[in-house]
This record gives sequence, structure tokens and C-alpha cells, in this order.
Amino acid sequence: MEIKTQLLNRFGTYNYSVIIDHKLHSQNNCFYCNCDLNDSNRTKDHLVPASMLRSQPEPIRNIIGHYNNVKSCNCCNVEKRDMTLEEYRTYMSKSPNPNRNQIMKKLNELIRPDPNL
Ligand SMILES: [Zn+2]
Repeated sequence: MEIKTQLLNRFGTYNYSVIIDHKLHSQNNCFYCNCDLNDSNRTKDHLVPASMLRSQPEPIRNIIGHYNNVKSCNCCNVEKRDMTLEEYRTYMSKSPNPNRNQIMKKLNELIRPDPNL
């Protein structure tokens, strides 16, 4: 399958309302762990890793990019690295991170159940 189609399909499996809700109502909290953000820990995380988008034509990047950036703390951003959300959920399910339950709750809201399972 063409990578453009793969990317759009992947993004289509996410629950946009969770992303939009955070953009509208939680402007000063980490998208993943919900901690308070300040000038020293505030970062921008790419839900679909930037490394996957870089090779895409600009119109595709623009469409996906609009929904792809969330505010996150430096800890979550560093821990997620360039994992997809599905990979991050699998990783987090085994992580000793003290915020694991909060992060898993958010990822489970965000990632729609796989209709093929
Ligand atoms: Zn966080």
C-alpha cells in the first residue's frame, strides 16, 4: 500500500475528539500525563512521528499536521521518541513510569479499537 494511504489510514484510527478537546480545554497540561506545563518542561509532540511525515508531500503534511501536534511535557516527549501511538501504548503497558495509568488511559481513549480484532 502506498505510504500516503497508510498514513491517512493510520490517522483515521485516532479519536479526533480527544485531540481537539485537549487543544481547546487543557492548554497548560501535558496531553499524555496531564502534568502542569511551564517554560522549562513544555514541548510539542508529534502524534504521528515527524520522521514518518518528513518524506510526504506538503499538502499531506499540512492536513495531518493540523491535528498532529499536542503540548506535552519533556519527559513524555523523550520517552515516546519516534514511536507511533500504538507502539507507545505497547511500550507504556510495561513501563515503570509512575504516570503509566494516566498515560494508558489517554492512549486508550485516543486509539480506536482495531475493527479487525
Ligand atoms: Zn507528560
